[in-house]
Amino acid sequence: MKPFDVYPLFDIEIVKGEGCYTYDAQGNKYLDLYGGHAVISIGHTHPHYVKRVTDQLNKLGFYSNSVQNSLQVHLAEKLGKASGYEDYDLFMINTGAEANENALKLASFYNGKKRIVSFGKSFHGRTSAAVRVTDNPKIVAPVNSGMEVTFLPLDDIDAVKAELAKGDVSSVIIEGIQGVGGIRIPDDNFLKQLRQVCDGTDTVLILDEIQSGYGRSGKFFAHQYAGIRPDMITVAKGIGNGFPIGAVLIAPKFKAVHGQLGTTFGGNHLACAAALAVLEVMGVEKLVENAAEVGDFLMVELKKISGIKEVRGRGLMIGIEFEESAAAIRRKLLFEEKVFTGASGTNVIRLLPPLCLTKNEAEIFLERFKKVLK
Ligand code: PLP
Repeated sequence: MKPFDVYPLFDIEIVKGEGCYTYDAQGNKYLDLYGGHAVISIGHTHPHYVKRVTDQLNKLGFYSNSVQNSLQVHLAEKLGKASGYEDYDLFMINTGAEANENALKLASFYNGKKRIVSFGKSFHGRTSAAVRVTDNPKIVAPVNSGMEVTFLPLDDIDAVKAELAKGDVSSVIIEGIQGVGGIRIPDDNFLKQLRQVCDGTDTVLILDEIQSGYGRSGKFFAHQYAGIRPDMITVAKGIGNGFPIGAVLIAPKFKAVHGQLGTTFGGNHLACAAALAVLEVMGVEKLVENAAEVGDFLMVELKKISGIKEVRGRGLMIGIEFEESAAAIRRKLLFEEKVFTGASGTNVIRLLPPLCLTKNEAEIFLERFKKVLK
């Protein structure tokens, strides 16, 4: 047997990581402006994280959700404080797609409705409900198309009002910042109005902060720039710094009914220890503030470079759009300058570095990037 060939792989094997750097099997050192797809939040192999996870594994790695788990209680309290959502509840699963599945499902249990509104260029995952609210024909299989989803243009509040006025929409799901769609930021005013329209029509507002959340945007959640409070927030990626964890933050109006939601692995002891270590490091090292500061610096400097169509983003979630394909630039950055970056489609380079990226490391990136563009 061999791994199913689902990804176009770079011919590199990363075998070690430290802070914002990774190392391949030949000992080459790479500056990581990709964070393994926005997953590495506090940096690779952070000593506090390694110790906390190792200590927990030495005590107990897993037991089922049929017994008390005080680590889940601590994590919920700590995440509530860090994010400003102390009054919300936390449901833990293992991935981002699962978080969205459960949020969409809980919304539908809550209001008894089934249609969902999503937005153009969205990406919410690859399980059946998550894939249906994704606006990308490459990802949606025939088996996924049974559920009723309406896609609307991002920022078009009149389209939202018209759709929700029909009264049959259970939930609206929207990314804090569209990642796969090319770093597209919903207008703050649009989000405010979206909140109002959802309130007036008994529609549940779900913010997918799987990529844009956990400090990446320079605030704990990207939607906090608009000052709104969604009914549910989905998180994954950065919450575990590589440990597979997903979660849904749930407003107090939703009451749990035993049997409706569940998971075998979600919220296990090792996952909680990893997630607690992440929040501890984020607090001590002020990583949300760092993401805002270093992100601002990068945006300002990137905007000075000629030959780029547009630079957009918030914090350390930045898209650099070119008129033509940026694939050759990414390859040169990787193989000649030893810098990892991500992509959205063909023309956008996506920067999703660990939130501990220093100004000095940002400068190293800028220097190597300019060299490649010459
Ligand atoms: N939602 C968003 C905004 C994402 O960026 C992703 C992954 O890239 C997902 C959902 C799916 O997360 P996962 O791959 O953990 O299922």
